[in-house]
Amino acid sequence: MYWEQEIETLHRRSLEALQLKRLQQTVRLAHKNIPFYQKKFTELGTTPRDIVSLKDLQKLPFTSREDLRANYPFGMLAVPPEEVVRLHTSSGTTGKPKAIFFSKKDINQAAELIARCLIMTGTTKGDVLQNMMTYGLFTGALVMHYGAEKVGVLVIPAGPGNTQRQIALMQDFKSTTLHVTPSYALYLASVMHNEGIHPKRALSLRRAYLGSEPYSEETRNKIERFFGIDVYNSYGLSEMNGPGVAFECLEKNGMHLWEDSFILEIIDPETGVSVSDGEKGELVLTTLRREAMPILRYRTRDIVTIIPGRCRCGRTHRRISRIIGRSDDMIIIRGVNIFPQQIERILMGIKAVAQNYQIVLEAYDQMTVRVEISKDLFDGRVEHLVNLKNEITEKLRSEILVRPKVELLEPGTLPVSEGKSTRVIDKRTL
Ligand code: ADP
Ligand code: ZN
Repeated sequence: MYWEQEIETLHRRSLEALQLKRLQQTVRLAHKNIPFYQKKFTELGTTPRDIVSLKDLQKLPFTSREDLRANYPFGMLAVPPEEVVRLHTSSGTTGKPKAIFFSKKDINQAAELIARCLIMTGTTKGDVLQNMMTYGLFTGALVMHYGAEKVGVLVIPAGPGNTQRQIALMQDFKSTTLHVTPSYALYLASVMHNEGIHPKRALSLRRAYLGSEPYSEETRNKIERFFGIDVYNSYGLSEMNGPGVAFECLEKNGMHLWEDSFILEIIDPETGVSVSDGEKGELVLTTLRREAMPILRYRTRDIVTIIPGRCRCGRTHRRISRIIGRSDDMIIIRGVNIFPQQIERILMGIKAVAQNYQIVLEAYDQMTVRVEISKDLFDGRVEHLVNLKNEITEKLRSEILVRPKVELLEPGTLPVSEGKSTRVIDKRTL
């Protein structure tokens, strides 16, 4: 099933021709209306007329999140302010947020991309989508909401948290589809498990879209098994509309990135040079259709690879892998580069481990992994705990090549976040 079959299955050559045409328009718009880009073009000695093939992308400047912050609030706007109908800000960690503006056309196009994603994964008119992402300044919930309405889905704007109400809503309105962060999905599973609610019997769920934070294949499996559903990975960032940038199809093997709307590059984050095919690197995105706020070569900091080959679903837009990590999330311990997700993958593969964990970095070379263990297995017998602790330590060591300190905790000890979860606590800089 397709939402826009022609575009979704467009021959690569036509797709690239379309990309070039839209890139040229985007570059002209950015150059003409955004002083930040004018200045960058002058510094690089580039003009819009130099962009005659997709290879010329390399002549264009990168845009970093610092650039967006430095031009906050209106500096990156390419249209008169009265053309803007929506403001979002990024959930950004510290300092000034990033302001992201949408024109009417931008809102519509973001919703169209979501519509493609929903139809691609079998959600259609008649489905009930319980949207557990945060509504408000974040893009996560609202962009999905508009896309789902476009398809004709009934949307329940539940937002995150209030778990008892979530369960009641799922039961009363027979939700078929969830849009949720992986950490909240795991939390929901643990509450239902403790209350003896069997999702396969009590609910009508068929699928869930998980995104907005990194998670592993093991976490997907855990959630799929518990709820008896299919979990599809969903990738997006506010700077590029929010959700709907890249999304898994029924094959569940990498996320199709909508290349008629974005140009993707994968670069070495150190040198800025494109990596060879199949190698991992930082995802860099250029908007091709955004009107209010076009962005050239945005450094996402997200580390991915391209999945080689054609997808069996027939779509020609290339697929990116699960997000391996953010280049700025990387932990370096005793010279070893570690992504928090490697730790998560191991933990979620161990049956006795519950949903919540935390990585604490203390001294410069000391890492503690704090893990909640499942209630069923928390019988308090010392030898069981010691064995479990050794098993976790050993498995982590063989994955990350550093021996962490492991602390086992009773379920419910660690804070539960409703939005993006904070897994790494770095005390080294405090
Ligand atoms: P911020 O960049 O401030 O966190 P966003 O809310 O726009 O603000 O978050 C976008 C980021 O969230 C992405 O750059 C990526 O790091 C992360 N993210 C989004 N979806 C996924 C996903 N499916 N898997 C892993 N990480 C994701
Ligand atoms: Zn596919």
